[in-house]
Amino acid sequence: MRKLAVFGNWKMNKLLGEARALAQSLKAGLAGTTGPEIAVFPPSVVLSAVARELRGTPVGVGAQNIHYEPGGAFTGEISAEMARSAGAQYTLIGHSERRHVFGETDQWVNLKLKSALEAGLVPVVCVGETLQQREDGATREVVQRQVQAAFEGVESAQAAGVIVAYEPVWAIGTGKTATAQATQEVHAFIRSLLAGAFGEETAQAMRIQYGGSAKPANAAELLAQEGIDGLLVGGASLDADSFCAIVTAAAGQAQQ
Ligand code: PEP
Repeated sequence: MRKLAVFGNWKMNKLLGEARALAQSLKAGLAGTTGPEIAVFPPSVVLSAVARELRGTPVGVGAQNIHYEPGGAFTGEISAEMARSAGAQYTLIGHSERRHVFGETDQWVNLKLKSALEAGLVPVVCVGETLQQREDGATREVVQRQVQAAFEGVESAQAAGVIVAYEPVWAIGTGKTATAQATQEVHAFIRSLLAGAFGEETAQAMRIQYGGSAKPANAAELLAQEGIDGLLVGGASLDADSFCAIVTAAAGQAQQ
């Protein structure tokens, strides 16, 4: 069974003191937790402080975004190496807010994925369709384009360490979740694309998370689905109790 991965994306929330306090609560709430792989993705400006708080705990830390260049005249950006040196082990890539609010392209996602791998970060590549695309029956087409573009030129051995997060855009921050069956179908489709690109064995080893209004009330049901290998949690990760409850649901699932 693939190890479940429960990740919390804090987005543009938490001042330094609040971020430290949340990290301390997670440290206390998740001490001794075994089973799922756990990580939080704080804003980059507090990443090193959060990483310091969480050192030696089961909770890893990741960046929400990186630039694909190693350095240079890119005002406001951070490189994969910078994120790593600040304590990140992971980075989100192509989150829907990056794609749809900031115009990030499939080509950038691909360059960022390669840059993250080169720097030794675990990339979490986000894909997913908008409501309009779903209503137009274009979910598979969109997801296929995003997955294939993201992994263009990536070798199997490297792909094995990449996590894919399927996040239907219409379910992010809206309180709506995709039905378990619809989610499972898209996860199976993504895995078939990965198998086509990297072979069945690699595709089976890769984790595909679900993201979109995951919360304590629906975590166990989502995680019980075949092929859902964890959750990428936004809003519900901003509160230690709700994030810990989701991790506990995953730990329970991991034991079944
Ligand atoms: C996200 O930001 O990746 C996300 C899934 O957000 P939410 O859980 O708030 O829908």
